[in-house]
Amino acid sequence: MEEFNGVRVIEEFEAMTKDAERVQTECLKKILEENGSVEYLKNLGLNGRTDPENYKACVPLVTYKELEPYIQRIVDGDSSPILTSNPITTFSLSSGTSEGKSKFIPFNNALMETSVQRSKTSFAFRNREFPVGKGKELQFTYRSKQVKTKGGLVAASYITNLYTSSLYKNKMKPIKSVFSSPDEVMLGKDFNQSLYCHLLCGLIFYNEIQVISAVFAQIVVYAFRTLEQVWEQLCADIRAGTVSHRITDPALRTAMSTTLLRSNPELAELICDKCKGLSSSNWGGLIPELFPNAKYIYAKMTGSMEAYLKKLRHYAGDVPLVSGDYGASEAKIGVNVNPKLPPELVTYVVLPDSGYFEFLPLLEKYYKTTESKPLGLTEVKVGEEYEMVVTNFAGLYRYRLGDVVKVMGFHNSSPEIKFVCRRNLILNINIDMHTEKDLQLAVEEASKVLAEEKLEVVDYTSLAGLSMEPGHYVIFWELSGEGSDEVLGECCNCLDQSFGDPAYAFSRKVNTIGALELRIVRGGTFQKILEHFIASGGSASQFKTPRCVTNQEVLQLLSSNVVKSYSSTTAFL
Ligand code: AMP
Repeated sequence: MEEFNGVRVIEEFEAMTKDAERVQTECLKKILEENGSVEYLKNLGLNGRTDPENYKACVPLVTYKELEPYIQRIVDGDSSPILTSNPITTFSLSSGTSEGKSKFIPFNNALMETSVQRSKTSFAFRNREFPVGKGKELQFTYRSKQVKTKGGLVAASYITNLYTSSLYKNKMKPIKSVFSSPDEVMLGKDFNQSLYCHLLCGLIFYNEIQVISAVFAQIVVYAFRTLEQVWEQLCADIRAGTVSHRITDPALRTAMSTTLLRSNPELAELICDKCKGLSSSNWGGLIPELFPNAKYIYAKMTGSMEAYLKKLRHYAGDVPLVSGDYGASEAKIGVNVNPKLPPELVTYVVLPDSGYFEFLPLLEKYYKTTESKPLGLTEVKVGEEYEMVVTNFAGLYRYRLGDVVKVMGFHNSSPEIKFVCRRNLILNINIDMHTEKDLQLAVEEASKVLAEEKLEVVDYTSLAGLSMEPGHYVIFWELSGEGSDEVLGECCNCLDQSFGDPAYAFSRKVNTIGALELRIVRGGTFQKILEHFIASGGSASQFKTPRCVTNQEVLQLLSSNVVKSYSSTTAFL
């Protein structure tokens, strides 16, 4: 097996980003040479041409909706070359956070290869700054259900596809730390049971843990919130050497009992003492206290994940937070080459060989596309925002990803981008327009009022109350404790004011938008949203709380858990 050489990987990356335009053209050529004769491209008259100009002239920009009829035929078992010359046999079910509905994204080995490559690059930069030795990684990974489509193909989350593939395991083994949890835990059928076992494994190897990770920061926070609840049971298991009855999955019980768990009263005592101390100080510094050799925490921490950074920092104490890369089930896009930067400042260098990327200019703020054409990788302008357009190795051609990125600079000749948010407007009643980023900023502002009562927002979402009279914004908050009516009323007013750009303020003044409502939900409500997502086939690893509710079941779930609600008394003059 080839040994991992970080210096060489970085050198290759530097060479590639110096020559980004040529690498992009080559990448497109490779994709089109391989797939030029597929039905989709043939119908568009590409006629085997592989250069960017003809490609852009013949192939239109599309969203999932336009590709869906083609994808559906593959899902239903049509194995003719529709989108790719090699038949697609597996799909990644994207989280579908924005639309509330999973998408079937074609997955193949070529996509996996780029993912492995990206992971190696990213690891090389990370390891240069934070070298890890022979320790273990506590990785909160969870699989999704694997479903068979009508045509007999496999559909699962991207993470599940990756982790169940032997190709990935073999290629990643030489570079990854050993995980503290066995495969059975990572691939467990029940999220809560897997989470409990991840925590148990982490504590068993507490002084060997060097890295704590998950795909998204939200899931790391969730794991340690759970630890706050179950630490006594975890200690009891370590003391007794048997796993709690809450673990009913036989595969998990066997994996834990036969290989890992031995009665260890001294360890149980040690962890128990640490947890008692931590619980009396609101669990601040939990990570360095329980995992004294942890070198860093690794997960995607930008964009909507910034909402969890405060809590994560509280748990992390002085252990650095390193933001993971930027990518999606559709393509791996950018790598964090400055792992020491705080997550709020992290940018991603676009990988020119990982797909063919275009950048659709967006009108500042409202993310309506302009008339202008998408720009190539090396044509983008610093300071501008764009929607990402992806052509990948698995049948997506000029596919609008729906993510907004901002160009912050260049690394050699490849752009360094910041992930801003999803493109769709989430709050829009009439002439007002607000994105998930606006909501995030409004919640951050209003949370400052909460700090007076030593309370925090555990999680949040929103609803554009169009069916109400007059239509208005509804914000749902789950809090870490009970707030007074006075403070929560003030938070509600603050939220309303924070959306107060001229269009919103005018609509509020003339009452075409009614007073904003803040609804407080019972503790544990957002956990139920996560469970609903998993029950619908998603993987907790890819879960991102939807920032606007469009799914009726989720709305029902939220509504039935409202304990208090407030209406803004802010007057817009
Ligand atoms: P999925 O479709 O489940 O694979 O999720 C992919 C989506 O997650 C992307 O389209 C982005 O919206 C979001 N995402 C990916 N990387 C990051 C990141 N580094 N920070 C914040 N959000 C991200």
